[in-house]
Amino acid sequence: MSQFIQFKLNLDTFIEDLNTLLKANEKKVQDLLAQDSKTYKNFVKPLQMMDEKLEHFFTPLSHVNSVNNTDETQKVYSDSLPILTEYSTKLSQNIEIYKVYKEIDANEKETLHYEQNRVIELNIEHFEHSGAHLDDDIKARLQEINIKKSELSNHFSQNLLDATNAYEYIIEDKEDVRGLPKSDIANAAFEDNGITKYKFTLQMPSYIAYMTYGENASIREALYKAYVTRAPQNAEIIDELLALKDEMSKLLGFSNYAEYSLAGKMAENETQVLGFLNNLVHNAKVQARTELQELQAIAPQKLQSFDSGFYSEILKKEKYDIDEEEYRPYFEKTSVIEGTFTFLNKLFGIRFENVKENLWDEKATSYNLYVDNKLTARLYFDLEARKGKRGGAWMHNFQAHCTNEKGKEQLASAFVVCNFPPSSKSTKSLLRHDDVVTLFHEMGHAIHHMLSSVNENEVSGVNGVQWDAVEFPSQFLENFAYEPKVLKLFAKHYETGAVIPDSMIEKLVKSKNFLSASGMLRQLEFSIFDFKLHTKPHAKKEVQDLLDSIRKDTSLIQTPSYNKFQNGFAHIFAGGYAAGYYSYKWAEVLSADAFFSVVDEGIFNSRTAKEYRNIVLNGGGAKSMSVLFKELMGREPKPENLLRLNGIKTV
Ligand SMILES: [Zn+2]
Repeated sequence: MSQFIQFKLNLDTFIEDLNTLLKANEKKVQDLLAQDSKTYKNFVKPLQMMDEKLEHFFTPLSHVNSVNNTDETQKVYSDSLPILTEYSTKLSQNIEIYKVYKEIDANEKETLHYEQNRVIELNIEHFEHSGAHLDDDIKARLQEINIKKSELSNHFSQNLLDATNAYEYIIEDKEDVRGLPKSDIANAAFEDNGITKYKFTLQMPSYIAYMTYGENASIREALYKAYVTRAPQNAEIIDELLALKDEMSKLLGFSNYAEYSLAGKMAENETQVLGFLNNLVHNAKVQARTELQELQAIAPQKLQSFDSGFYSEILKKEKYDIDEEEYRPYFEKTSVIEGTFTFLNKLFGIRFENVKENLWDEKATSYNLYVDNKLTARLYFDLEARKGKRGGAWMHNFQAHCTNEKGKEQLASAFVVCNFPPSSKSTKSLLRHDDVVTLFHEMGHAIHHMLSSVNENEVSGVNGVQWDAVEFPSQFLENFAYEPKVLKLFAKHYETGAVIPDSMIEKLVKSKNFLSASGMLRQLEFSIFDFKLHTKPHAKKEVQDLLDSIRKDTSLIQTPSYNKFQNGFAHIFAGGYAAGYYSYKWAEVLSADAFFSVVDEGIFNSRTAKEYRNIVLNGGGAKSMSVLFKELMGREPKPENLLRLNGIKTV
């Protein structure tokens, strides 16, 4: 019998089957709770496996809805969401389950495996962070706050969207679109009474096009000003949101929202996060000044905020003009896949073998993953773009490695989805170097999931991994896509067989690090602002004052006083990044640090690479990443390796 679930999806009966399954689950929860004596083995384990099976049932639908989207998949998917939400809300508010977790924690903590203790710890945390365990009047207030918060976040994005859509700048003089790429000019052009005019908006492709290529500085200034003054009414929403988040955190027993946000993360406290960010500012600043001087040197007058994109582009063209078309013939899809597998084999000693099976699309493929000749996991690839497929790239986990109620081993499986150029009988799929980086990134997530040796599915593979550490394995692997030793394994011209020249690889690295210190400084400005904003209640003028005080350190070009960046900071006010924007840089440090250990040891003879497999990849989410990282490196992470990766000298 196969170790893996056959991929199947029946749209006609899906909702009915889902309802049946959820009903059975609810009955099962009642039965589990009704047992006289409840233990990890007879309560937590079956509950976990029940969730795992629901994943197995639901994942094919969410997957197919993303890769072969039709009206039918959309309908079934959107019909199933409220059913699932109702089910999981009920479960997460079932205080009886919480009490049993607490009981088992008290009785069995000493005798359980650390993986099992971690499952209990995370479940208790989950209940307590939602306040399900608190008195009814507090719970009612928390619910009110949650509803209000999501309304406000919604208004925040809506205001931003409305402001973005409301603005347009019409150019009548053809001279003013000189220098823009033909496609951008064509997109902007329209006829008005027989005269060709050009419309630019605040929507991303249009705005970026003019800010990057538009030669008329006063038009750039007008667009910039319109962009950074969008949605002034969001200032009030920010005040309200910050007050609500502060109140919520205090009701849940935290001293502020930043502390609440850190509770499920690898970073330990406020001092650690801010110390980390400030150290990077200190180091990046020196080189950022040099970068600015270089930029200033090619500009005819003192650089303004609305000039940097434009002059950066000119300088980049001058220094490292990368022609993607020149690279594509070296990255033919089939050889990139084989090369990626060879690379992973040489680095970690793992092996992939093609499996013939019927999948959701004829272009999709599957592979068995072997570790030391033992079948360990299954990987599904769906890499080419097609109609009905969502854009971008992602990894989605399917099965998680664990032992089931009967003590039998279940193997892991995962999907990697990309949008590479389609191939046909007569044309090959030729990738950009960026696509190769993307594939490595997603494979980093996939092997993190598939190589898990954890026996508890809720903390196995990518499950239960701390939010600010999730990107560590993906960025770690991604870094190798710039290494000559790795690229030369597979970057061969698909017609001539010639290996990619060193000079072309060098150009890729230099272009990646172009103005890297300035870019880092900007990210750090956002991170520090976000984090400090959530360490105590800020209102009205205090928000702007905080931002201004940070900019004294991070903004080398004077930001105009009309710039109200915060009113458009949707990541933290309308997304999930509040007091968490620092996570990007945090995970990058871990990945850069481990990466250079491997590179410095000699990539394919690296002890750290093997240890990385055994400690980080096998370890899944069963231990904090700070513990795993220390086991791997024997020390704390070194931020200077992130600077090195970006070509920034430490001061
Ligand atoms: Zn990722």
